[in-house]
Amino acid sequence: MRTEETGHAVVVGAGVAGMLTAHVLGQRFSRVTVVERDACPDGPPAFRAGVPQSRHVHVLWSRGLTALEHLLPGVVADLEAAGGTVIEAPAHMRWLSAADWFSGVRGSHYLSISRERLEATLRGRILARPTITLTDRHEVTGLVAGRSAGRVGGVRLRERGKGGQESTARAGLVVVAAGRGSRSGQWLSELGYRAPVTERIDAHLGYASRYYRRPPAGAHRWKAVYVQGNPDVPRGGVLVPVDGERWLVTLIGQGDQQPPVEADAWLAFAASLRSPELAQALTGTEPLSDPVAFRATANEWTHFERAERWPSGLLVVGDALCRFNPVYGHGMTVAALQAQTIARRISSQEPEGAAARAAELQKAVAKCLRAAWAIATGEDSRYPSTDGPAPNRLDRMQQRYLARVLAAANTDPVVSEAFFAVLSLNRRPETLLTPRIMARVSRRR
Ligand SMILES: Cc1cc2nc3c(=O)[nH]c(=O)nc-3n(C[C@H](O)[C@H](O)[C@H](O)COP(=O)(O)OP(=O)(O)OC[C@H]3O[C@@H](n4cnc5c(N)ncnc54)[C@H](O)[C@@H]3O)c2cc1C
Repeated sequence: MRTEETGHAVVVGAGVAGMLTAHVLGQRFSRVTVVERDACPDGPPAFRAGVPQSRHVHVLWSRGLTALEHLLPGVVADLEAAGGTVIEAPAHMRWLSAADWFSGVRGSHYLSISRERLEATLRGRILARPTITLTDRHEVTGLVAGRSAGRVGGVRLRERGKGGQESTARAGLVVVAAGRGSRSGQWLSELGYRAPVTERIDAHLGYASRYYRRPPAGAHRWKAVYVQGNPDVPRGGVLVPVDGERWLVTLIGQGDQQPPVEADAWLAFAASLRSPELAQALTGTEPLSDPVAFRATANEWTHFERAERWPSGLLVVGDALCRFNPVYGHGMTVAALQAQTIARRISSQEPEGAAARAAELQKAVAKCLRAAWAIATGEDSRYPSTDGPAPNRLDRMQQRYLARVLAAANTDPVVSEAFFAVLSLNRRPETLLTPRIMARVSRRR
């Protein structure tokens, strides 16, 4: 690896956040290196250990799709051609909300595709640019101080496998997009900075998912099924189509209601949801994999943006910055919004200027996640078993109001449209408090 740093950016992690950030940095930096711990071979998409969540349902809400299309024109058509399905929600679905079934109302839309296929498509597009390279099978082990005080000047990395050769990559900007297990707080401490505080709200949600062979088109009138849990029955399940003519089915449980991974028990769990429709859809359908579990689903926001002292040349994005309870499906959309924000902020800057303004950039990317954080933590703190600060009176009032919004959204097309605009991150949560929506919600009552 070359060592001159001017105009060189290093991105740690080749997940969705890392690849999209590399893409936008590639528009200003003369060279971008993405360092990834896993092997990312060309060819058909494959599971990799660094993204264990890829075996569970991943939907990309409309706001994320719009952002993706803006960053990489034509990519949505590529994703559909690769087997992805755009689904109108709730119109193309059977969706039992925490209140009731959605009935023929309009909402928003999302893309359903396997996470592996999504990543492979993004990698193919982004690495086609000669200035962006992927150094896979290399693990970043820490940050390197810059040549002057108050700067990060690169990363230390170790080749994976036998020998594990160590090296240094010097760079003007390091972006950490290393996901849920990121050690960026510790890396900062090693450079003499105070480790930031992590806010944590854990609803103790567990996932267990498996693939099925998708029945031929026309076998069902719906494209997807979602049976949500509620505080009385904290068990749910979601079935979506993914590439390879498959269904991906994720069962979800909270607290002591975790979905099991033994095949028979998993099916029994599916049959125990608030509606039998999801389990009925699986009857006579061929499973293609055994169930696998995912349990680390807490909302965790590491507040890098609040640091009193922040080095230039360092940025933390994606799950390395904030992890959401995945049930709301917001992480990838937030990653795309952060990439758009970085693109906007550095569009008129030289690489040196972008690196020098890292503290401002860090604050700007943190803003992108506020709405998703408010939705996830507001909902999660409704459950008594959730760990985290107890909701105050105002929170409880908001939760009661939102429960009524949801009930109204089941049948009222105006409230439904407003509700899904918020859920898909197209509009801010406050837009549910306009007089028009409030009047319709109270009329429904
Ligand atoms: C079960 C589950 C379901 C989800 N469902 C949805 C959904 O429906 N919709 C949605 O929008 N979001 C969903 N998410 C969130 C989504 O997965 C993430 O928000 C999104 O992938 C952005 O993650 P990222 O790129 O920051 O990290 P990741 O995707 O986790 O990627 C991090 C990458 O960094 C690499 N890495 C880590 N450490 C190092 C290191 N030291 N050196 C080099 N490389 C390293 C890893 O190998 C990995 O490739 C879900 C999450 C979970 C857990």
